[in-house]
Amino acid sequence: MDVVDVAKDAVELGPVCESCLGRTMADWSRGLTNRQRGEAALIALAIAEDVPFESIAPEDQCWVCEGLCDRYDTLAEDVVDAIGDREFSTYQVGTRLPPFIAENDRLFREDIRGDANAGESLKRECNREIGKRVGKLTEATVEFGRPDVLAIVDIEAETIEITVNSAFIYGRYRKLERGIPQTRWPCSTCDGRGIKRGEECPDCDGSGLRYQRSVEQLVAPSIQEAMDGSDATFHGAGREDIDARMLGTGRPFVVEVSEPRRRTVDLHALTEAVNTAAGGAVEVIELAMATHEMVEHVKELEASKTYEVNVSFSEHIDEETLTEAIKALEGRTIEQETPSRVSHRRAALTRTRTVYAAELLEETDSDARIKIHGEGGLYIKELLHGDDGRTTPNLADELGVTVTVDALDVVEVVAEGDRSFDTERYLH
Ligand SMILES: [Zn+2]
Ligand SMILES: [Zn+2]
Repeated sequence: MDVVDVAKDAVELGPVCESCLGRTMADWSRGLTNRQRGEAALIALAIAEDVPFESIAPEDQCWVCEGLCDRYDTLAEDVVDAIGDREFSTYQVGTRLPPFIAENDRLFREDIRGDANAGESLKRECNREIGKRVGKLTEATVEFGRPDVLAIVDIEAETIEITVNSAFIYGRYRKLERGIPQTRWPCSTCDGRGIKRGEECPDCDGSGLRYQRSVEQLVAPSIQEAMDGSDATFHGAGREDIDARMLGTGRPFVVEVSEPRRRTVDLHALTEAVNTAAGGAVEVIELAMATHEMVEHVKELEASKTYEVNVSFSEHIDEETLTEAIKALEGRTIEQETPSRVSHRRAALTRTRTVYAAELLEETDSDARIKIHGEGGLYIKELLHGDDGRTTPNLADELGVTVTVDALDVVEVVAEGDRSFDTERYLH
């Protein structure tokens, strides 16, 4: 079977456009469009048969695609219109064919080549040809993995469905005030509705929130607004206690913005906008554009933490004794039963964690500020007050006094051990 046979058989079946004809031979030669293959086949047929070209060139509408292959330019323009003013640099086009056209396409290839899967399918051609034109019109790049926008051209319904994938901003936050949870915390009395038995919930004054502020609420809206998205979700690399500050180099986070209309933002201006809106309670640093993989990367971060803790003692401890007791914890493996403060939420079990470093920062009378670097998951308060012997060893036992934890700050969150937290890989 050669090109002339294909063209001859096709012309006998009925009027067929160059693209549909060429598509049956898509596996023959490269660097040609199916339309070029179809034109060449008709020309070859005219020469082989020694007949005027007009006598075989199709005049009536193609019975296979019913003219679809002539509409690629218009459909591409429709796709660009449907995307509208949304900013994107990568895209993908998909096509939904009417069932009878898809069937024509299979029948035709089966008749001509004896195989319904020979050549290329019309759907594939549509995706590529419309996609190519969208690229020319917008200067964006095709991406099959996770494009900024995905357009589905539904030929039968004459609609174009646009899916806009989320955009991601990575950064580190510092929480400068205590009493702020990381994410929105709905009021449990009213299940976040703000109303209990038809009345304003007394526990949250109708706000539906146990805490009026959260890092998420202070940070995410400014980012959502800058990217003009429909929603924003906050993903943190672990979390500190509500009453702990997060200082120093901050904690990694990613804000996912749904359906953004803007994807390139001035990160300097965005940092300012977030920090202004957060009013000094929370501060963000190192904002950067990230890929969707950054969310998993941040959530899976196994981090060691450095804390600075204010403690007080039931009696005066001299500096030398205190320094020694703190040093005695360094390098120790700590056994911790699930602390009493969280045991109602988690099954009781004993975990072991290492104290990497511990030092006395300052001491005043019966108060002290202590710096401790510990393995991820170490219950730091319990390490200091002992939790009635549920954590061993602990500072209270080392000193033989009662230790009270007055205030806790996380000052560093870094990847555990020799693992690296490689953000570069997931930044744009
Ligand atoms: Zn056609
Ligand atoms: Zn409530």
